[in-house]
Amino acid sequence: MTIGQIINQVRENDPQADADLLQLAYEFADKAHKGQKRMNGEPYIQHSLHTAFLLAQMKADLTIIIAGILHDVPEDTEVTLEEIEKNFGQDVASLVHGITKLGKIKYRGVERYRENLRKMFLAMAEDLRVILIKFCDRLHNLRTLDALPTEKRQRIARETLEIYAPIAGLLGIWRLKWQMEDLCFKYLYPEEFKKLLYKYEVEKKVERNQYIQKVKNTLGKKLSEAGIDYQVEGRFKHLYSIYKKMQLKDRKFDEILDVFALRIIVPSIPDCYKTLGIIHTIWKPKVGRIKDYIAVPKPNGYRSLHTTVFGIDNQPTEFQIRTEEMNEESHYGIAAHWYYKQRSGSDYHEERQPAWVKEILNILKQENEDKDFIKEIKLDIFHDRIFVFSPKGDVFDLPEDSTPIDFAYAVHTEIGNKAIGALVNNKMVPLDHPLKNGDLTEIIIDKRRKGPSRDWLKFVKTNRAKEKITHFTNESKFASFKKIFPKI
Ligand code: MN
Repeated sequence: MTIGQIINQVRENDPQADADLLQLAYEFADKAHKGQKRMNGEPYIQHSLHTAFLLAQMKADLTIIIAGILHDVPEDTEVTLEEIEKNFGQDVASLVHGITKLGKIKYRGVERYRENLRKMFLAMAEDLRVILIKFCDRLHNLRTLDALPTEKRQRIARETLEIYAPIAGLLGIWRLKWQMEDLCFKYLYPEEFKKLLYKYEVEKKVERNQYIQKVKNTLGKKLSEAGIDYQVEGRFKHLYSIYKKMQLKDRKFDEILDVFALRIIVPSIPDCYKTLGIIHTIWKPKVGRIKDYIAVPKPNGYRSLHTTVFGIDNQPTEFQIRTEEMNEESHYGIAAHWYYKQRSGSDYHEERQPAWVKEILNILKQENEDKDFIKEIKLDIFHDRIFVFSPKGDVFDLPEDSTPIDFAYAVHTEIGNKAIGALVNNKMVPLDHPLKNGDLTEIIIDKRRKGPSRDWLKFVKTNRAKEKITHFTNESKFASFKKIFPKI
């Protein structure tokens, strides 16, 4: 990566951008990091440049990109924040300072997790732009994670999956969210990742592409007849989101991937509605699946029309219809929002914080530091997932309403098989007790217990627990069968 590439990228969004200042920031950082190397052997400045490039791709403004180039200078070199302020002004310096503050967390286990989350929200409270730089910094770190020792690699990946990615989702920055998630998925669940990657990219690919091509042909003809310019995207499901859906909805991979998805991008809002109408005249829509997020945007600002129809050969097919601007916003969320606001000349500083961010800030203001931070945040950051802690401080990511039995099987099969009781936050609870985000959960086992109870199937939520219980009870049925018919 070179500063030239960054300048080109910046110029693409803003031809007037001050390239000299970027060049200066680069020379400043390059000098400061001189001689430093990353774990993978690359000169350190490469990390700074990659971070800045990701920001430029998001159409972040010059101040943010410069702060991106300088983000590790005070932390890792002799050069101080004061010198940054002297050379690049107070705004850049305060962003760099924000990043530095996010960097240091000394705790371990649960405390580390909480402190991390708290710091992210506090940083967000002070200046959302800091989070944006932190995301790009983290994304590049994830891309170069191979160079790190396993334990550190796992810790970074888990932290990203539990804290960074959900916050990126909250801010609507999908492009960063899914890139972070897929990289973490690869590091944390390598087997599942490989399996899904193969299914998605090899087994299903041809079928998917052929189908999408057919839909494109049929729909494209009608859209052209109506005089609507359009673009079609056919690949935007990401591996980790497929994996999550499989766990959450307790479905097999094929069921999920059999719903094909297409994204149609058209010039204007009236074109969006016209396109929806055209789709519905060709294929029958599924009841209850038409969503108008243009008239009523999602809380994070997301806009699009959604519909699922019975497509060619009755194949369930999902459409997302949107304008170029909405598409950009859906990739970059709040960041794109700034860009468009800035271009349209209104005061984007005013608009920087959507309503829900203001809401978090209000909660934070009332918050005193030693209260249980996670519980007090009234926002459902983690959607349908909860994070449950073991007494050792390990974090387990489970579907909502999971029970101690789901947790036990997530820890270890034998813990599940031998479970007889559970303590949640040091209190005894029944085995079907629904766990909550942040619960500290301890399983009491009886080593003499033969195995799980089939009744548990009535309340467990995870596939893993279901499989283990079924497997064990079938096995033991088979075992008693074998006692009677030993030759089998
Ligand atoms: Mn960094």
